[in-house]
Amino acid sequence: MVQINSNFQKLPGSYLFSEIARRVAAYAQANPDRALIKLGIGDVTLPLPAAVTAAMHAAVDEMATAQGFHGYGPEQGYSFLRDAIAQQDYQDRGVNIQPDEIFISDGAKSDCGNIVDLFGPDNKVAVCDPVYPVYVDTNAMSGRAGEYDEKSGRWTNLVYMPCVAENDFMPDLPGEEVDMIYLCFPNNPTGAAATKEQLKPWVDYANRTGAVLLFDGAYEAFITTPGVPHSIYEIPGAETCAIEFRSFSKTAGFTGTRCAYTVVPKALTRQGASLNAMWNRRQCTKFNGVPYVVQRGAAALYTPEGRQQAKDHVAVYQNNARVIREGLANAGLTVSGGVDSPYVWARTPNGMGSWEFFDLLLRQANVVTTPGAGFGPSGEGYIRLTGFGETEATRQAVERIRNVL
Ligand code: PLP
Repeated sequence: MVQINSNFQKLPGSYLFSEIARRVAAYAQANPDRALIKLGIGDVTLPLPAAVTAAMHAAVDEMATAQGFHGYGPEQGYSFLRDAIAQQDYQDRGVNIQPDEIFISDGAKSDCGNIVDLFGPDNKVAVCDPVYPVYVDTNAMSGRAGEYDEKSGRWTNLVYMPCVAENDFMPDLPGEEVDMIYLCFPNNPTGAAATKEQLKPWVDYANRTGAVLLFDGAYEAFITTPGVPHSIYEIPGAETCAIEFRSFSKTAGFTGTRCAYTVVPKALTRQGASLNAMWNRRQCTKFNGVPYVVQRGAAALYTPEGRQQAKDHVAVYQNNARVIREGLANAGLTVSGGVDSPYVWARTPNGMGSWEFFDLLLRQANVVTTPGAGFGPSGEGYIRLTGFGETEATRQAVERIRNVL
């Protein structure tokens, strides 16, 4: 009889967004006359930038010709896209990343999940709390998390680094030695962005102990504050201890189109092995590349028009986040994030629980948010709102919440 991966049976039953969907569906069914505004799930609402769709149309036409047809492409991505990323996202910012250190993929979610293939089963894993659930669940599935404890909402073998108001939503270095450290800045869900000074101790720690930083920069495009680093590689020494994940999902509306990339520097070695070579081997074995048409669309973001259109795109969401942040602050809530991030993180009033406040806003304001507790125990007492909605709906949602409060 086959043996299944029994780690899957340890995963807690209800995934955050399915529980939200269940509650929203039940409410909507009982109240069909109420128009709900959704500021919960982090999906985008604007269509793809024109430069992207023009490039994709042209690529489709190319594919219809004998000369322009592309079959299997390079597993690591086409050089036209890797070269543009290396140049514009890194070298133009004074960071020495080369095209062969960049791996194009179908999403930062897949890469964050698949990266665990490179690491042994006994590594100690540290995650921020609250956290993007993918880091936790993929380590649980591969047996690194231990057992799930319903009572504390924690896995026994993971090291949780609370990110709360008291530490400005920045994790403290863990008290015990850890090997794989997930950092995400600008952060989902708290919206906090990290300065160079705040990131440097992590780079120093990883280089000193031989740990690896898994740095998720999916929201890099939302950074506006001068001096906030756009890449972990802006911190000296990061090339010998960090892997960076980036995505076009939120930068340019690629959530449904699927394109992202991961940087694994050649200088990053552990136990004599090159992690760049290992990731290359992993991708060549398990992945057959992102469609040519999609990579052409992504490459259009590195033309002057494409760059501008993506910037305009992000500016709309940044403005929504500002409207949410200012509106809720004026209504008396304690809010953070929403400046270098599309996410606003709001404290629940009067010590209310996250789910309780979620239900109140659903029923009384008809606005869907995300309860902070769904991102980890330290998210209790917060809700997350996203700037990815439509502008007018966002304004209305804030108005409705203010009226309720
Ligand atoms: N990383 C973080 C922190 C995210 O919030 C998300 C999406 O919500 C992703 C990665 C996934 O990005 P992608 O659409 O590229 O898979």
